[in-house]
Amino acid sequence: MTQQRKPATIVAAARTDRDPAFASVAPPIWSSDTYRWEDADTKPGYDYSRTVSPNRDLLVEALAELEGAAGGVITGSGQSACLLAFLLLPAGAHVLAPHDCYGGTYRLIKGLEDQGKLRATFVDMLDAAAFERALKGGADLVWIETPSNPLLRITDIAARAAAAKQAGALVAADNTLLTPLRQKPLALGCDLVMHSTTKALNGHSDLFGGALLARDPALIEQMQWWSNAAGLNGSAFDSSQILRGLRTLPLRVRQQEESATRIASWLSEQPQVQAVNFPGLDSHEGAALAARQQSGPGFMISVRVKGDASRFLAALDLITLASSLGGFATLICKPATMTHRGMPPEAQAEAGIHPDLLRISVGLEDADDLIADLARGLAAL
Ligand SMILES: *Cc1c(COP(=O)(O)O)cnc(C)c1O
Repeated sequence: MTQQRKPATIVAAARTDRDPAFASVAPPIWSSDTYRWEDADTKPGYDYSRTVSPNRDLLVEALAELEGAAGGVITGSGQSACLLAFLLLPAGAHVLAPHDCYGGTYRLIKGLEDQGKLRATFVDMLDAAAFERALKGGADLVWIETPSNPLLRITDIAARAAAAKQAGALVAADNTLLTPLRQKPLALGCDLVMHSTTKALNGHSDLFGGALLARDPALIEQMQWWSNAAGLNGSAFDSSQILRGLRTLPLRVRQQEESATRIASWLSEQPQVQAVNFPGLDSHEGAALAARQQSGPGFMISVRVKGDASRFLAALDLITLASSLGGFATLICKPATMTHRGMPPEAQAEAGIHPDLLRISVGLEDADDLIADLARGLAAL
């Protein structure tokens, strides 16, 4: 058996030997939409770029090695990777998803349900009894997202996946928030792992992308078939950029996590703060589970301030008010009116998305400067 390579080696070494023409170290971008056939009866490995593309292959190989997958599909966005997972299901399938899942995922599942394409049950994944009850009627797909967004609640992947498998369901995990460096859902029993590569994997806030990965070759083949049929595949240029971003992922995540840990503990000591959600804090309800299931706390923090969140946000000078995460710049957002505005108020309240809740994606600035900026915000409350 070949030795399993460490993540930093996987990303640094990814296909630096793939240019047969000039032996360039950085892989080229093969932007051609189509490829020449030697004769009409022998289909070449690459024929038409909606179906297969060398740049997507380089990226999927690196991501699959990081996740312990056998392969997968690179899509044009995180949401098209979600859609691809739903395309694998039969008509009328029952999908069990977290009541506090990513707003776009919630919207997509609801939209498909409203058209009668599937039946959805949104459940609190941390409530084992409620989860078991929802599974009783049978399920085709169980969707896991942990840590949740924006509350960073931790779902026990191994426990939920085992119960879901026993009920005959496929299990998918959205691993966007932690990246494969900090959590490996396939090793914990999931069938599918999904990423918005728009976020930390690319890390530079300059494109959209997604990935859906699996271990089972039959599942991978179905994913490739649907992605080609529906034209969900990502572009050669974006795939090349994401692989470029991926090369520094281990460095970025380490730095962002270190800063996030400092910021979260600083926030938790401030009198103008009601609550801090960060899996690395001992006070976090999921801290023990996170320590077991994750190899680090990640770089996301959410915080409830005392008073008017708008005044806090208006006083910030360095941190940008914007709704993405995982990039080089520290971003803050108000989920109730930004990322989760597609969720009806009752659903927001049930999911704990209050108007004073703010989500921070810690970036690569110096932590001292970030803390000084947050102090400005708190002083304005
Ligand atoms: C951003 C995000 C998505 C959607 O990805 P896009 O690339 O924006 O389509 C899905 N899940 C999570 C957790 C995300 O953060």
